[in-house]
Amino acid sequence: SSESGEHDVVVIGGGPGGYVAAIKAAQLGLKTACVEKRGALGGTCLNVGCIPSKSLLNNSHIYHQIKHDIKQRGIEVDNVRLNLDQMMAAKDKSVKGLTGGIEILFKQNGVDYVKGTGTITGENEVKVKPIDGGEEISLKTKNIIIATGSEATPFPGLEVDEKKVITSTGAIALTEVPKKMIVIGGGIIGLEMGSVWSRLGAEVTVVEFLDAIGGPGMDADIAKMAQRILGRQGIKFKTSHKVLSGDASGEGVKLEIESVKNQKKDTLEADVVLVAIGRRPYTEGLGLENVGIETDERGRIIIDQEYRTKHENIRVIGDVTFGAMLAHKAEEEGIAAAEFIKKGYGHVNYGAIPSVMYTHPEAAWVGQSEQEVKASGKEYVVGTFPFLANSRAKTNLETDGMVKFIADKETDRVLGIHIIGPNAGEMIAEGVLAIEYGASSEDIARTSHAHPTLSEAFKEAAMATYDKAIHA
Ligand code: FAD
Ligand code: NAD
Repeated sequence: SSESGEHDVVVIGGGPGGYVAAIKAAQLGLKTACVEKRGALGGTCLNVGCIPSKSLLNNSHIYHQIKHDIKQRGIEVDNVRLNLDQMMAAKDKSVKGLTGGIEILFKQNGVDYVKGTGTITGENEVKVKPIDGGEEISLKTKNIIIATGSEATPFPGLEVDEKKVITSTGAIALTEVPKKMIVIGGGIIGLEMGSVWSRLGAEVTVVEFLDAIGGPGMDADIAKMAQRILGRQGIKFKTSHKVLSGDASGEGVKLEIESVKNQKKDTLEADVVLVAIGRRPYTEGLGLENVGIETDERGRIIIDQEYRTKHENIRVIGDVTFGAMLAHKAEEEGIAAAEFIKKGYGHVNYGAIPSVMYTHPEAAWVGQSEQEVKASGKEYVVGTFPFLANSRAKTNLETDGMVKFIADKETDRVLGIHIIGPNAGEMIAEGVLAIEYGASSEDIARTSHAHPTLSEAFKEAAMATYDKAIHA
């Protein structure tokens, strides 16, 4: 095999964790390579996750709005039709632009982009099998950062063909709108992709094991409101129902489901079934066994506070290890890991990582949910404000949703902020900053917010936490 000169850092995986770690390491003056086997940079997020799903969510929303919500605004539009091919082409264009952009950033920062599958063969060596089939490359390195991400958790007995039985990867690439779609799992992927296909005309049923949708971390009040609003948009929900088995041997797909409450069984049929029951760490072919690195019972690579495995020079970030499977969380860790290598210190505030569900309206939150605060035993106060009482939401004819604050009863320090409503994903940034700075709800309520904006609902929910809101 051929050899290149020694690197300071070899990053395995070019997703949000890996590419950011590689750029930061190079900016810090370290000789850095990034190994990626997909043929494009950006990982799950840019290629088959965050970016393509948001493109489809945005454009399917515009389509749906023109079809169902435009007349009341005084706009008459006739003959609205879907051009699914064009919608997919618009998505592909965004993806291509962004993944290509990272390649340019690599060049600008002097990161060596190695296209191939990386296998750790020793503490200081990564061997790469190039995707173009060329000769194996040996990269000698002082440090390794593993950022190999995650993959969809399969549903036992239902083989994914990405046509009839799909994961999110198939759900961003269907070539026609299915008549009936069943989504297994009412977490973020299920609700985002379920929304897309429901808006485009599919009859969508979401089967969720728990008694609430939204996946782990969503505040119960927000989850309830989300279910009501999405239900009004036409998505059917079967919460407290478990999918027992599936059969895709016929023309469509049959699922056997069971009520968690009374064990009553039922059969559902659909043209397409989306499996969205979570994601699991991806370490196939990585060679962990060659260096004795262990994973936990869920497949996550075990690390310490500084992202180190049992080998001090091999660090791990992103979806393949602990914590929320979010792109911005992986990016923060990428920067911190590079800084640990160069400077010996780095930091991520895990208490201030926002979550956003990009349905319409969006749901967004940061900090603890009410159920988490309750479980901690801390005394707390809650303040809420409905968008129905917000002037901008009213003029926009978008009044669904609310802002909810949870603060420490004694100190008024903000513990959690939960929003469901128009633009919640942008609005939550203010909440993240509040938590990062250790703000009290009164700090926020006494900060001037422009009128008329949606963010006044944010201010008034803060006010309602220690005092009374003005407009509610
Ligand atoms: P990944 O992005 O998975 O990247 C890992 C990369 O490593 C891959 O490209 C893989 O090809 C490569 N790789 C693996 N093994 C090797 C090897 N041995 N050699 C070379 N290369 C290798 N998060 C958000 O924050 N916001 C969202 O809106 C959002 N939407 C999502 C929508 C969908 C449909 C999905 C599936 C996920 C979404 N996520 C979202 C989650 C987000 O995509 C992940 O949290 C993020 O991509 C994790 O980054 P990562 O760098 O850890 O791993
Ligand atoms: P998830 O863990 O969020 O939700 C999976 C849901 O499936 C859970 O509610 C679970 O109770 C349910 N479930 C599991 N087995 C079931 C069964 N047999 N029958 C019925 N229900 C069942 O997972 P996901 O939605 O697949 O998302 C995976 C990851 O990707 C998450 O970590 C998520 O944060 C991330 N992601 C984030 C975004 C975003 O930030 N906007 C978007 C998409 C994905």
